[in-house]
Amino acid sequence: MRYHFAIALGSNRRHGRHGAPRHVIHAALTALGSEDVSVLAISPILTTAPLGPAGRSFANAAALIATDLEPDALLTLLKRIEHDFGRRRGRRWGPRVIDLDIILWSGGRWTSSGPGRLTIPHRSYAERDFVLRPLAAIAPHWRHPAGHRTVRHLLARVTRRSPVDRNRVAP
Ligand code: ATP
Ligand code: CA
Ligand code: CA
Repeated sequence: MRYHFAIALGSNRRHGRHGAPRHVIHAALTALGSEDVSVLAISPILTTAPLGPAGRSFANAAALIATDLEPDALLTLLKRIEHDFGRRRGRRWGPRVIDLDIILWSGGRWTSSGPGRLTIPHRSYAERDFVLRPLAAIAPHWRHPAGHRTVRHLLARVTRRSPVDRNRVAP
């Protein structure tokens, strides 16, 4: 398979059949592995326990995949999986059963034209602890194609900026 991609997975809502967010992540990884996609590595799942009775728990993970799909075709597949898991378009950053983002790919930079244009590297990954931390477990040396900073370096930078970190990596 020609290309490698780093994918970020997130869930902050229970699924009727799969259950809590961390189980949703496992199920989404199973769905991702298919004829077209081989899953090469999976990070530990980072979980954040709910705060108080009304709080939501979050689960985040990263995966490395190999595929012959071009970025737009892969995004279409990711959106289909999100839809199959019951995600409907709604508020950005609102509660969602599953969110699948493309973070990096072996082809460097990519921008699609059209609505919702796909941008790789993902616009915000360099600032997100919950993306970088799982990714650092499986691809610490992957460099941003422009800034050339590795995932490990970016994580160290983000961690320095926000020393209070309540996230814990689940076993
Ligand atoms: P964020 O992108 O800040 O993490 P989000 O994941 O909540 O926010 P969505 O509503 O899931 O945002 O996605 C909005 C649109 O972003 C998608 O329809 C998709 O076309 C576009 N998009 C652009 N770049 C990417 C990328 N690298 N990975 C996934 N989607 C992307
Ligand atoms: Ca996202
Ligand atoms: Ca998304």
